[in-house]
Amino acid sequence: MQWENTRQFALKQDEADELKTYRQRFFIPQHNGIDCVYLTGNSLGLQPKTVREKLQQELDDWAEFGVEGHFEGQNPWFHYHKFSTESVARIVGAKPVEVVVMNNLTVNLHLMMVSFYRPSGSRYKIVMEAGAFPSDQYAMESQVKFHGYEYDDAVIEIKPRPGENALRNEDILQVIRDNGDSIALVMFSGVQYYTGQAFNIKEITITAHEVGANAGFDLAHAAGNLELSLHDWDVDFAVWCSYKYLNSGPGGVSGAFVHERHSNNPDLPRFAGWWGHKESDRFLMKRGFIPESGAAGWQLSNAPVLTMAAHRASLDIFDEVNMAQLNRKSVRLNAYLEYVVLESVRSNPKLSFTIITPEDRGCQLSVLTGENGKSLFDHLTENGIIADWREPNVIRMAPVPLYNSFEDIHRFGEVLKSF
Ligand SMILES: *Cc1c(COP(=O)(O)O)cnc(C)c1O
Repeated sequence: MQWENTRQFALKQDEADELKTYRQRFFIPQHNGIDCVYLTGNSLGLQPKTVREKLQQELDDWAEFGVEGHFEGQNPWFHYHKFSTESVARIVGAKPVEVVVMNNLTVNLHLMMVSFYRPSGSRYKIVMEAGAFPSDQYAMESQVKFHGYEYDDAVIEIKPRPGENALRNEDILQVIRDNGDSIALVMFSGVQYYTGQAFNIKEITITAHEVGANAGFDLAHAAGNLELSLHDWDVDFAVWCSYKYLNSGPGGVSGAFVHERHSNNPDLPRFAGWWGHKESDRFLMKRGFIPESGAAGWQLSNAPVLTMAAHRASLDIFDEVNMAQLNRKSVRLNAYLEYVVLESVRSNPKLSFTIITPEDRGCQLSVLTGENGKSLFDHLTENGIIADWREPNVIRMAPVPLYNSFEDIHRFGEVLKSF
């Protein structure tokens, strides 16, 4: 593709974009009366315009029916979590029985680790990336301590090679093979939150299984971003939040995947609650936990209907498109962003940018800025560009195929040039 850093070229790409109408389905934050260039859908996705009516429906049913809304409402709350499973299963490449929407991400990570991090004897280690998102690091640290191990001994962190910013897939697989039967769990993100690197979930899982370990993934930055096939890749479990690429709103409800082959395994320990109990008996209030089959059997509590209603608004949109379409546009938007960034750097000697995101990526592009990085970032903000600053000097940008445009990218380039 021959890119051009002109407004006319960008508008032409938007005109030809098969997803162009979706931008109008979201509220775009404003700056001095015009649309911001919103590049932080990897932190908090934008609000679909239908969120309000989705919430209103549940508020109306609550007002009209009170507790009877569990069965009498338009979307009976007793079944509410199920209204999302088909859509979510499509997004992550799973069977409906393998997914459930519940809790928040870190809570789900702990619940999954209770079942899938089962250290015993000499097999007790966890392999993960160095520099993982803090919540994941704390989760691993507290889990190994909970089982009586020391972090430095029980957690094997994989770092990039000296002078490199991203991990090499071959190095990840080698560490897993080298540590073989001491590994209980390989736990990776799907997309690294800082560098934007997309990991090879399929090969990491195959290699983990070869050495007899479980493979789990935190898909916070991958769900709704990459094309995933969790079922076919044979992943043991995965968790993700829905407020990033899935646009469910701040603190929105999370998701979890448990592979079908673990669905009805009575030997898997878990922390249980009444909403994971066999549905037909749930209200009999009897003693003795019998899990619902599939991921639903990991639920603890009754569904948080209001945040789930907000989530539904965005899932309706995901039902109309597919991940392959989103990915096609994402690849082009990201390539255009990289082109525009490099072109702008060439024309403005004040800019110093090193792209740290490797070729294996999703929406996100991360750049290492020079000494004036923070003042550049402030310049972006003052000019209506919403990007993300990470200490010490990284700017993260995520053009999201559902609502970002090629014009957004061009405007971003113009602001870079004016620094
Ligand atoms: C965003 C993110 C989280 C956030 O966790 P919550 O429990 O939803 O607050 C956790 N892990 C990763 C990798 C993330 O990117």
